[in-house]
Amino acid sequence: MTALAAHDLEVQLEASQLDSYPLRRRSHDFYARGLIGPVFYFVAYLLLLSVSDFFARASWWVALPAVLFAGLGWARYQHRVPAAGATKEQFEKWGRRHWVLVHANSFAWGVVPAVVGWLEGKPDSAVLVVSLSTMAFCTAASQAFAMHPGQARLSMLALIIPGVAVFMAPGLDLRPTGVTLFFYSFYLLANLRRSSQEYTRQVDTEVELMRSRTEVTVLSLTDPLTGVANRRHYEVAWDRAAAAAQRQRQPLALLMLDLDHFKKVNDEYGHLGGDACLRHFSDVLRAHFRRDSDFIARLGGEEFVVVLPDTTQARAVELSEQLRLAFAASPCPIDGAVVALTVSIGVAAVDEGMGDPTVTFRHADAACYAAKEAGRNRVVAWTPTLEPRRS
Ligand code: GH3
Ligand code: MG
Ligand code: MG
Repeated sequence: MTALAAHDLEVQLEASQLDSYPLRRRSHDFYARGLIGPVFYFVAYLLLLSVSDFFARASWWVALPAVLFAGLGWARYQHRVPAAGATKEQFEKWGRRHWVLVHANSFAWGVVPAVVGWLEGKPDSAVLVVSLSTMAFCTAASQAFAMHPGQARLSMLALIIPGVAVFMAPGLDLRPTGVTLFFYSFYLLANLRRSSQEYTRQVDTEVELMRSRTEVTVLSLTDPLTGVANRRHYEVAWDRAAAAAQRQRQPLALLMLDLDHFKKVNDEYGHLGGDACLRHFSDVLRAHFRRDSDFIARLGGEEFVVVLPDTTQARAVELSEQLRLAFAASPCPIDGAVVALTVSIGVAAVDEGMGDPTVTFRHADAACYAAKEAGRNRVVAWTPTLEPRRS
């Protein structure tokens, strides 16, 4: 039995998924931020067709790149991020494949200014549209793909290099535009570096926050002295165990345990000696109730509860009796001495999802009280004849 029981799955899940969070976050951002890109390639290409003399005169094949951009956009949309439970390798493989699609898209656009520059050969509307679009696409890539700066750099180069190379070619009247594009790309590479640092800082901060939230949750549910669950945790755990027992039509048992004459230990060995005994008792409980579903909590002082799902009252009495004997035979070591202690245990249960789990606590408490009244160091099962505890 660990300090956290099954019902804190949310917290445990979060803790176990924390390490893979940056990878998942990067993958989702990469996918989502890149979705709009292909739409702009498509629109920019249509715009280019509408302003270019050459393209206006040309035949049907000028529509082919539009089909290519639409197809690549569709492929990027379809290539979904793996589900949250996927392995690191699966995420990485997805990322590599998705980058192939993005690079293909970037390069497909990158060829467009090169072709337009080659065909037009001089500054005109078509060259203006492709140059501005290329700058815009590179700027967007330097911001949006900050989660993978190395790959983003490649994609930006695939967008800008073919155009710049052709613009700079001798015989064309596009060298000033080529030089401008070339220098602007340096600014964008610096921008990419900055945005990737910011991105990393932001993800680190999120992980830090989630880690502290998990720690705070764990601390708020744990008894600091013994490491078992605290009363608050017990209350949530009981409600969930009771709901599960009703749903699955299973019995559910509750033990109330109170150390006998504990005050004497404190009087004789001091508060620290008493604390050592409480820790020792918790260890015995943990060693005894080992199923994952068993739940141990310290309500306060020297009072503990144990929740046993799928356990009848009769079986819970047997287990309690074994625990009582084991504890009596396992004295608590304090400062070289050993202190023999005993425990009184009250047992109550809800059978097969029948009965009211909200009264079980009172029943177990009454049974524990009866065990004290009957002389301590014993197990008493609740029966309707038992008196409730007066104090
Ligand atoms: P009984 O057999 O009737 O249960 O007697 P008792 O002495 O065990 O019961 P009582 O409720 O009179 O005393 C409980 C004692 O537990 C009193 C209190 O000082 C001590 N106690 C409560 N919390 C702690 C703690 O955190 N550490 C230590 N060392 N003692 C504690
Ligand atoms: Mg007590
Ligand atoms: Mg006591």
